[in-house]
Amino acid sequence: METKKIVSLAERMSAKFNPEGLTPFPFSRMPGMIVETDMLPYDIAGGLLFTKEGGIINIWIDRSRSEERKLYTKAHCFGHYYLHRDNIPNDGQLIVELDPDTRSYDTAVYKEKFWRTEYEADLFASALLMPARWVRKVWKELKGIGIGPCSKIFCVPFFEMTMRLKHLGLIE
Ligand SMILES: [Zn+2]
Repeated sequence: METKKIVSLAERMSAKFNPEGLTPFPFSRMPGMIVETDMLPYDIAGGLLFTKEGGIINIWIDRSRSEERKLYTKAHCFGHYYLHRDNIPNDGQLIVELDPDTRSYDTAVYKEKFWRTEYEADLFASALLMPARWVRKVWKELKGIGIGPCSKIFCVPFFEMTMRLKHLGLIE
């Protein structure tokens, strides 16, 4: 899917499920079920599971990750749900999400194989949690706030906040 379409879908979802601009994002309003667990192996930040027919999403999140990483992983999984649900197997297998903060696998191999769908899910997650209008507003009104405090406001990881600000042309 085109970048523009993904961003506009995510921003529509943001307006629908979080019109007040709450942070952390109120995921309980989204469809499906989110389970926080301590049963996931090292390196796995979360995962998603579809029921038969791909109708219902179950998202599993590693309880021990930072609040920001947990939130971002949830948004990323919803990205797969809205963008890739027709292509993801619904055979009861958990689609895992590696934790970029602790990943020890071969990034190059991973990126080559999955980069397009992962990139799209990240794009969705960023626009869902950091809608352009709110990021611009916060960045303008709290001029000089810095990336760290800004990432705390949106409750997202520092790296993802940096990428979003760059993408919106607010930092170089
Ligand atoms: Zn993913």
